[in-house]
Amino acid sequence: MHSLETARKAMLAGLEPMAAESVLLAQSAGRVLAVDVAAAVNLPRFDNSAMDGYAVIAAEAGTGAQLQCVGEVPAGSAFEGTLQSGQCLRIFTGSPMPAGANAVVMQEDTRVEVDRVEIAEGVKPFEHIRLRGEDVKESEMIGHAGEVMHAGRLQLLGAAGVARVEVYRRPIVGVLATGDELREPGEALGEGGIHESNRLALAELIRETGAEARVYPLVNDTLDATKAALRQAFDECDAVVTSGGVSVGDHDYVKPALEALGGELDFWKVRIKPGKPFVYGRLRGKPLFGVPGNPVSAMVTFLVLVRPGILKLTGATDLELPAHPGVLAVPLVNRGDRRHFMRVRVDAAGQVHAAGLQASHAVGPLGQANALVDVPPETTLAEGAKVTVLRFVG
Ligand code: AMP
Ligand code: MG
Repeated sequence: MHSLETARKAMLAGLEPMAAESVLLAQSAGRVLAVDVAAAVNLPRFDNSAMDGYAVIAAEAGTGAQLQCVGEVPAGSAFEGTLQSGQCLRIFTGSPMPAGANAVVMQEDTRVEVDRVEIAEGVKPFEHIRLRGEDVKESEMIGHAGEVMHAGRLQLLGAAGVARVEVYRRPIVGVLATGDELREPGEALGEGGIHESNRLALAELIRETGAEARVYPLVNDTLDATKAALRQAFDECDAVVTSGGVSVGDHDYVKPALEALGGELDFWKVRIKPGKPFVYGRLRGKPLFGVPGNPVSAMVTFLVLVRPGILKLTGATDLELPAHPGVLAVPLVNRGDRRHFMRVRVDAAGQVHAAGLQASHAVGPLGQANALVDVPPETTLAEGAKVTVLRFVG
């Protein structure tokens, strides 16, 4: 049986990002940069005013000075001439500094009568001026391959004049659930039926990686149905996540179906709790992530195994769940011989609370849980212990 680390290593070694394509910056949100990006211009582009006020020659704009206002520079325009001794110019936030001026007096620090401006509070050279290139220099690298285009990066690249970017194609990930007992929402449950819920959670976790989730109909527990469902999903998707049907039961068909279609089984079973029966294989070079059907096992194996695999396909270089320090508000006990990824709720102060029943079928805690704590085998972590929490809800 693989450890989590060897399983991840074996899986990640065989996965490559999707092909890159050029898109308009406006279409790149949430995508991953495939190449490094340089700034096309300096930021600020030109020396400009940080305030609404008056552009002045600092040496002449001490407290009590009287200046003559000779015009104005609205944002988006430029003053043609050069400011002369004794003069000032009405200026606004973002307006280019006129030639000859080297400071701005805030409007609140002046007394104005028609075109006479009295300086109530003197300024020093460069006060209230935003200097050309002080933020970003032209040609500076402002984006790197593997980085996600989040709001801040869109802001930066847009301001720096980047019109198009090379990003990786979003992987399409098929989501299948196997099990004769499963019913669609709203469908009558009948004897022994249960509501299917893994596809909802898995599809959302897939979207959170930046990939596209494609959800398929429920799959019955027969070899033929499983083969047909896998064949279609592999035809239409770049990767497939299945739930259920990976244990040792007589009705577990994911592995035999993959092999019957000519796929390879890379590994089965990982030494973690929950989620031991996780399966990883490939068909036509595309990955199959087989998570166990128990809802908690499905989520935990997704977070620690499938998520990094899908992120690698997206081209992202940061594959890890965000890890933060926390302090246990309750003890966490793992009596088993596998590391246990326990579901917890970490609050804003870093206090880590148990989220409820720690069993692989127990969905009760999942509404409040926002993180995992990796508890080593046969270990009790006492109340007050410092732990690392792996966040999966922001
Ligand atoms: P399996 O991995 O197929 O042996 O299923 C393990 C347990 O998880 C069983 O109790 C199933 O009924 C339950 N289960 C399997 N798939 C799902 C699903 N998609 N949604 C909710 N529960 C499921
Ligand atoms: Mg099953």
